Amino acid sequence: MPKAKPLSKEQIVAAQAKTKSNMAAARYLHVSYQHYKKWAKLYKLFDGHKNQSGKGIPKFLKGPKKMPHMLEIIEGRIAASSFDPNKLKYALIEQGYLSEECAICAFKERRVLDYKMPLLLHFQDGNSNNYSLDNVQLLCYNHYFLNVGDVFNDKDVKQIESKQEHFGTSEKVEWEVDDYHLQRLKELGLDGVDEDDPNQYVSRI
Ligand SMILES: [Zn+2]
Repeated sequence: MPKAKPLSKEQIVAAQAKTKSNMAAARYLHVSYQHYKKWAKLYKLFDGHKNQSGKGIPKFLKGPKKMPHMLEIIEGRIAASSFDPNKLKYALIEQGYLSEECAICAFKERRVLDYKMPLLLHFQDGNSNNYSLDNVQLLCYNHYFLNVGDVFNDKDVKQIESKQEHFGTSEKVEWEVDDYHLQRLKELGLDGVDEDDPNQYVSRI
């Protein structure tokens, strides 16, 4: 087995600048934690980079819900293609990397029906695996249309305009709640019936 290469002080300083814990710094350098620890201790850089409470580190590695570790994806160390794009969009917002509004006009209204927002994630270089923060932005449908391209294809438009009874009236829109959306509703406290709500027994028909 070849002997592991020594790590320079500069390498460790650089890895620490990009990470929030010693474990992450070792991963960043592609070396074992033990190897990293030995050299970081030698340069007296180990204790200052401890992060036992996990502060600032997304819960992806710990929690039961497998949320993507966005920093790794943003910096390109984990391939974005292995995750559901919807989850990544949510994680970008939830972990504070993007604000949930149009990057151009700051539109952020929610639909009353289900609290969804008409925002699309746009990759400026056209590469939908490049989550670098200077490459991703959220755009409202109007600004997506004006700056990038069509939101709906011809078939969609034809369908929307010819079957108006299925659209435009909230009663006819089906409630399709996926995991991503359910999580958003939970976050807003809107996922279930409020036990204390006196109106819960009122017929909604
Ligand atoms: Zn806009």
